[in-house]
Amino acid sequence: AKKYGRNNFQVYSSDIEGLAHSDLRMEALLHEALENKEFVLHYQPQYRADTKELHGIEALIRWNNKELGMVTPAAFIPVAEETGMIVPIGEWVLEEACRQNVTWQNAGMNPLPVSVNLSLRQFYQSDLVEKIKAILTSTGLPPEYLMLEITETIAMQEDIATGILQELKTLGVKIAMDDFGTGYSSLKYLQNFSIDHIKIDKAFVNNLFTKEGRAIVATIISLGHHLDITVVAEGVETPAQVAELKQLGCHVFQGYYFSRPLPPDLLQDEWNHS
Ligand code: C2E
Ligand code: CA
Ligand code: CA
Ligand code: CA
Repeated sequence: AKKYGRNNFQVYSSDIEGLAHSDLRMEALLHEALENKEFVLHYQPQYRADTKELHGIEALIRWNNKELGMVTPAAFIPVAEETGMIVPIGEWVLEEACRQNVTWQNAGMNPLPVSVNLSLRQFYQSDLVEKIKAILTSTGLPPEYLMLEITETIAMQEDIATGILQELKTLGVKIAMDDFGTGYSSLKYLQNFSIDHIKIDKAFVNNLFTKEGRAIVATIISLGHHLDITVVAEGVETPAQVAELKQLGCHVFQGYYFSRPLPPDLLQDEWNHS
């Protein structure tokens, strides 16, 4: 069953199960997908609250499969994480996002950081930093134009996270704490890892007009202000949310109200007109 979304297909996990049967088969399918270059990145713009200018873009993976159509990450990232396929897939994402960002810079676009989501499995690879360094060198992207999005689950693996994040900061890349407040939030990470961005999870933005929801969002924004960390609200869908978030001092917006994730050519049009 395919449900047609506004811009792309939504594929249910049941479709994937019909095609894949087992994790082992799924792993093979993901292997093929990588070899056949079936993965694509879409890019979602982020806008500054004050100037309304484009602030950055987040790379989000899709699987363009012959039989299934455009598969959303929710349907394959969990299996990719379980099988370990997220490691080569994640490496492809890093390389492709950096390459695309250089292409945009060479086309004369105002340089902006591209954000890439990292999974915990990638952090367990002892050569993560080396790989990122190699990708920056081979693509020619200056490190400050790569932002790595990590989750609290990664940050809480203190033994590995501390060293790796320190090395990444030394390399000059930026770090965003994704889905902030949904995991084991610790204020210590924010301090120890010199985080550049905090992203307020869309679940909190959804609850903005409840007493508790507003209190949580206001607290995260205030924390960002005090620690000098840029706060990004995710999943912004309505003008009322924009107004309220602005009122609370949120720095950057990302969400369907502004734009859905777009293929590279459409993102470039958006960029040209922003
Ligand atoms: P995320 O990192 O929290 O990304 C934000 C998700 O929210 C994206 O879903 C985006 O399309 C969606 N979104 C943005 N604005 C709105 C809005 O206004 N309303 C609603 N309802 N949703 C909005 P997407 O692209 O389906 O990605 C889902 C998740 O899959 C991501 O959540 C991330 O955890 C994971 N993911 C995506 N790409 C990658 C990747 O390259 N590597 C890894 N490891 N994970 C990825
Ligand atoms: Ca993210
Ligand atoms: Ca997020
Ligand atoms: Ca999320």
